[in-house]
Amino acid sequence: MDIHEYQAKELFRAAGLPVPPDEVATTAEEAEAIARRLGGTVVVKAQVHTGGRGKAGGVKLASTPAEAKEHASRILGMTIKDLTVQKVLVTPAEDIANEAYVGVLIDRSSQAPMFMVSPEGGVDIEEVAETNPEAIRKLRVDPRYGLLPHQALWLADFLYEDPSLVKQASKMMTQLYQAFRSNGCSLAEINPLIVTPGGEVKAIDAKVSIDENELHRLPAVEAYRDTDAEPWAETRAREASLSFVKLEGDVGCCVNGAGLAMATMDLVKYYGGEPANFLDIGGSSNPDKVVAALEIITGDPNVKAILFNIFGGITRCDDVANGIVEATKRIDIKPPIVIRLTGTNDKEALEILEAAGFSADTSMDRVVERAVELAASA
Ligand code: GDP
Ligand code: MN
Repeated sequence: MDIHEYQAKELFRAAGLPVPPDEVATTAEEAEAIARRLGGTVVVKAQVHTGGRGKAGGVKLASTPAEAKEHASRILGMTIKDLTVQKVLVTPAEDIANEAYVGVLIDRSSQAPMFMVSPEGGVDIEEVAETNPEAIRKLRVDPRYGLLPHQALWLADFLYEDPSLVKQASKMMTQLYQAFRSNGCSLAEINPLIVTPGGEVKAIDAKVSIDENELHRLPAVEAYRDTDAEPWAETRAREASLSFVKLEGDVGCCVNGAGLAMATMDLVKYYGGEPANFLDIGGSSNPDKVVAALEIITGDPNVKAILFNIFGGITRCDDVANGIVEATKRIDIKPPIVIRLTGTNDKEALEILEAAGFSADTSMDRVVERAVELAASA
């Protein structure tokens, strides 16, 4: 789960990190009033679940309350990477002498939290990793011991020469690690970590993702969920208890079981297609779930063909077939649907589907190939 910058900053402050004060506005007038309260130059920042807001025009300096209002009215309602801005953060502008990058994330290959720090802050860290990897220092943290003091110093030492800055930054590494661990984060990032002309190190941006599996024991963090700010398909999938991941292709996939869903995506690729999503409807033939799945898939304008792949076991194929027939009566579906069913009661299922005018088969190969062809010729 992604959270907003202003929420991430609350978590950071609670861990003791130096973060400038701020307030959130949903209207331009509110932004103006906050700017007046804060006094001096402020920054107006789009609150959306994505980075790169600066480049997209979603971060603006304002030297007067009137200017803050003007920027806020332009930023509110703008779209950044398909997300509509509904809130802005207003915070005092800092003078910046230096920008660095600090992040900690769960690293899958080392199966542990991993720190990444770079003196090249303020820019896209993926870009630094590609063009100038030696500008990044990495450290795997042993979760049994946490971030040890000498490790925190080693990371900070990569960013600054001045001992006062190293000391401040090293303390911040420890605080960031604490925020990361205690809030079930999969990512906690400060970009940029700045040095002011007066020699103070501060976090002026914050990006945090929470591991969904941690939320059940962290109600305060769960409350940060902002369904208005996440893609509609994600909200719908969660409500219907579907595991769903949007991808960039045009073959919509609806599969029972995560393993079969992965295999289906592999086979789509094998036949030269691109899956539009990963979607596991679970071991259920409940038409409501099938309706939700079809709503999500057809809500993606990229989808050119829909592929069902069902392996019947305890789930009976005839139940699923009835679910599909029922679901397609309830919603209007434009892209062609191809269905593969095999396992318990597959014969009955094929009869039900054929009677309803669907193309269905028991062979995964044939059906996936057909779906890829249909998507390509659409
Ligand atoms: P992002 O683009 O979504 O990562 O948003 P950031 O909060 O990182 O802001 C982007 C850039 O705007 C930063 O790297 C800074 O260069 C600049 N910026 C943000 N806040 C301030 C500020 O308080 N003062 C100044 N001078 N620049 C700022
Ligand atoms: Mn940033």
